Order: sequence, then C-alpha cells, then structure tokens
Amino acid sequence: MTLHLYDSARREIVEFQPLEPGQVSIYLCGPTVQSAPHLGHLRSRVNFDVLRRWLEFSGHQVSLVVNVTDIDDKILAKAAEAGRPWWAHAYLFEAAFRDAFQALGVQPPTYEPRATGHIPEMIELIAELIERGHAYAPADESGDVYFDVQSWPEYGALTGQRVADMAPAEDADPRGKRDPRDFALWKGHKPGEPVTASWPSPWGRGRPGWHIECSAMAGKYLGETFDIHGGGLDLRFPHHENELAQSRAAGRGFARYWMHNAWVTMAGEKMSKSLGNTADVAAAVAKYGGRAVRLWLAGPHYRSAIELSDASLAEAAAQLARIDSFLERAAAAGPEQWFAYAVRVPEEFSVAMNDDLGTPTALAVLFRTVKEGNLALESGDLEAIRAAQIAVWQMLRVFGLDPRASEWADASAGDDLKPVVDGLVGALLEQRAQARARKDWPAADAVRDTLKNLGLKVEDTPAGPRWSLEN
Ligand code: ZN
Repeated sequence: MTLHLYDSARREIVEFQPLEPGQVSIYLCGPTVQSAPHLGHLRSRVNFDVLRRWLEFSGHQVSLVVNVTDIDDKILAKAAEAGRPWWAHAYLFEAAFRDAFQALGVQPPTYEPRATGHIPEMIELIAELIERGHAYAPADESGDVYFDVQSWPEYGALTGQRVADMAPAEDADPRGKRDPRDFALWKGHKPGEPVTASWPSPWGRGRPGWHIECSAMAGKYLGETFDIHGGGLDLRFPHHENELAQSRAAGRGFARYWMHNAWVTMAGEKMSKSLGNTADVAAAVAKYGGRAVRLWLAGPHYRSAIELSDASLAEAAAQLARIDSFLERAAAAGPEQWFAYAVRVPEEFSVAMNDDLGTPTALAVLFRTVKEGNLALESGDLEAIRAAQIAVWQMLRVFGLDPRASEWADASAGDDLKPVVDGLVGALLEQRAQARARKDWPAADAVRDTLKNLGLKVEDTPAGPRWSLEN
C-alpha cells in the first residue's frame, strides 16, 4: 500500500515514489520572521508534521528542511517601524515562531537553515543563471539582478499560466527590468537601508531576493533533485513558480512533487496580518490547550480551508477530551496485560492516510475505535480494551497527539507532579497545625517560612488550606 498524494504541479492525485526507496526528502518554506505568528501561519507546519509522522510510521526515513527567511523587505520595514536593528527584529520573531510550533507539538525539522547564513550559495546560483543566459544585471548601476522570464519557456509551468497573462512582479522597483514580470534575484543596496543588511557580491553590495533563498537552501541540503516541496497555497505563485523556474533554468531537477495546504480563514477570508483578521496563538493555546489546537488544525483535510471560530476550537477540545477520557479509563481498567499486539493502526486508518492524507476519514476511524473501547470497558473485556487502547495510541502518534509523547511532556509535567506536591504541602501544613495546637509559634512560623521560600502561597479556605505558586 503506497501513499498517493495530490501533486499541485500535475494537478492530480499521483502515486508517490521517493527518489531513494525508504528515504523521503521534503523542503517546506518557513516563515518570514517579521511579526508574531497567528494561527494561519501554523497550519502548514502542523500539516507537514503529520505528513512526516505518517511517512516515518510507514517505515520511511524523512529529511525535512524548513528555512527561516530572516532578511526581506518586510523585515527591514517592520524593524525600522519598531526602532530595532533588523537582525534583532528577525531573531525576536524567529523565537516567537519556534515557541508557537513547540506549543503545538511540531517536531523540530531535520534542519532549519537561515537565509542570512546562505548568501554565498545564493550568489553562486545567481552567477550560474547569468552564465546560462537566464538572468541579467542591468547596466544601470542599481546592483540588481533579475531572472529573465522570456528566456525560460517553462516559466508558468507550476501554476499553468502563460507569461503574457501574468501580472508584473511587484517584488522590486522596476528600475532596469527588461520585462515587468522579471523578478529580482539580487537587490542592490539602496541609500537609507542598513549597511548590515547588505553583502558583497559580483554585482555590488546587496541582498538576495526572497525566491532565490529557497532554491539555494533546498539545493544545498536536499540535493539538486528532492522529493516533496511544500508550503501554503499562497506560495504557489509567484514564490514557488519562481523557485521552480530559477532552479530548473540552472540545470537542477528540483522538487518532484508539490504539495500546498489551504488557509485558515476568518469570515471566509484568508487569515493574514495585512487583513488584520488574525488570531493569537498563545491565547488559543491558553484557552483550549496545545493538543486541542493541533487537532483543530490537523483534523480537516489539508487542502480544505479551516474557518476559525470558538465553536470549532471548542469542538476539537471536546473531541480530545473524549479520547483522553477513554485512555484514562482504559489505563485504570484491570492489570496491565498487554497480550500480543503488533504496533499497527487499523487498516482503514492506513488506507485513509495513504489517500492524500485523508485525515478526516482517519479521525473517524480513531473515534470509532474509542467507541469500541468504551463498549469494551462496559463489558469488562480486558483484551478488547487493550487492543483499542494500543490502536488509539498509535493513531494519536501519527497525528502528533499522543499524550505520552515527549513533545507534550512539558504540558503534562505539572499534572504528574501536582498530587506529589499536594501531599508534601499537606504534610507540612499538618505539622504547622500541630505546632500551633501546642502553641509552639517558632515551629509554626518555620513551616510557614519554608513554604514561602519554596515560592508557595497558602490560603485558608473553608475547604481547608489551598496552595498556589506565588508570582
Ligand atoms: Zn520558499
């Protein structure tokens, strides 16, 4: 049984065959770290994290490279607005993105290259394109270099467009462009821009255009030809079209399959900073928990839009609670007898996942198994309980939602420790009560000071003393 997926370039479902059997290389366009992430930014990482987990579960080794675009027009503009050096601005939001991915249980990629660390590779690729006659540096002293779209007959192949029908590329001042649709590979340094945001090149000081970054980094880490290129639907054009054109024009095979995830929408519109209809990740995680937000993003099919609403997030949280409640009851049901089960998932789950990552159908199988497990709990059939428990764990693992997994360890560490701390605090409070009863004030105060020094605040309530952490 092999994975079939929708290839955006061929515009049909195709059988996925990795270049090297058993090994899959994936390049995913990472964030431009210009501002804090919103829920729309996280979908792509969650979707491709599920793809990676499914491929690994099916026995593949996966190399996932996700870049960080840490130099860009938008970063320079936002940093200037914020009164920060551009590099400090980029680093600040890179960390914010990392925290957000972690909060949703996204595994770190195999490698996460930063654009600013790969300027020599970009310069090499641009020089190669000039040599092959597909790029030019206009004789206008600007220091710009453009890709010559008219020189590349395949331009438009990814999105099925003809050059004549395309809008001008708006990624640079038109300055010395031969054709308004030519896009910038290298942007000459302009007066007023920070000198630190420029690097020496054969065309003068400047910085890379956005598209060339990904071609250079994908080539460096995954080779001239790799398996899957992914990203959000909004990246198909111009970003991915341009990546494909410049990589192929430089003689590289580049991506063999293209996958694009749909957007998170609000009132039907794509969630975006510029539209101002964004939702804060930290607030959603605080309200519903990281696992519920992840289920909300991973549950719908990756090519369908997800409409943001409190109701849909609450529904995801309720679904997760149903699963967790079964797992808790199953764990408490009888001795831990594991019988002889293979580590596998139900056949229908595999069929669904291999059908272009059919997560809605796969989730339906998971819920059916939970239901079967609940019935087994009622009838006390331990063998059936354990079978359902293992199957649910495995399916949750594929979704990145297994509560026992290391990525959720931090979130549940407090829960595990709470009964222990409750017991210890209770014992200390009992000592204080006894000291008070015998009017041994120094001993009672010593207990109070010990708790205070540990950062614990104790309140007397009608139900007895309650502790909390002092802020
Ligand atoms: Zn990219």
